[in-house]
Amino acid sequence: MLTESLLPTLDVRKAAIRGAVIGGGLQPLNLKRFRPILAGDEGVIAVKMIFSRDGENRFVVDVSVEADILAVCQRCLEAMPEHLSIESKLAVVWSDEEAASLPRYLDPLILSEDSCNLWELVEDELILAMKPFSYHDTGTCRSKTVSFFDPLLKEDVVEEKPNPFNVLEQLKPGNKH
Ligand SMILES: [Zn+2]
Repeated sequence: MLTESLLPTLDVRKAAIRGAVIGGGLQPLNLKRFRPILAGDEGVIAVKMIFSRDGENRFVVDVSVEADILAVCQRCLEAMPEHLSIESKLAVVWSDEEAASLPRYLDPLILSEDSCNLWELVEDELILAMKPFSYHDTGTCRSKTVSFFDPLLKEDVVEEKPNPFNVLEQLKPGNKH
């Protein structure tokens, strides 16, 4: 479906004025800051961007990203497929002050020149969208030390549910044996 790579850079003002719609694909290896937090090079990142001007004459970009990548399971440290779906509405601004004055539904795209690095833009969105911790379902996780990381799971093998107050009692100093 996506045969072409996403354009690396674009003049966003010109694109907004002519209402450009661009789409393209990226791979994890294209993104030098994103790739190191993944478990592998495999993956597909599909990007669509719609450039326009809004009622306030802002230059606006509607960004949508659908990414299938390999995250690292924080329990067993093996790869796990993860899907990221991102929808953002960005407005081009030229300073932090301008960024602060944007309405809440617009995120700032701070530029110092008309040319915008689209790959970095997508990379920033992907990094923000990544969950801080990914875990396999316990059934598919290869970790043999699940109980070590997940004390709740350990509790499940206890036949009688411990009374939480008893647990507190055991935690009191002097009650250990
Ligand atoms: Zn795992």
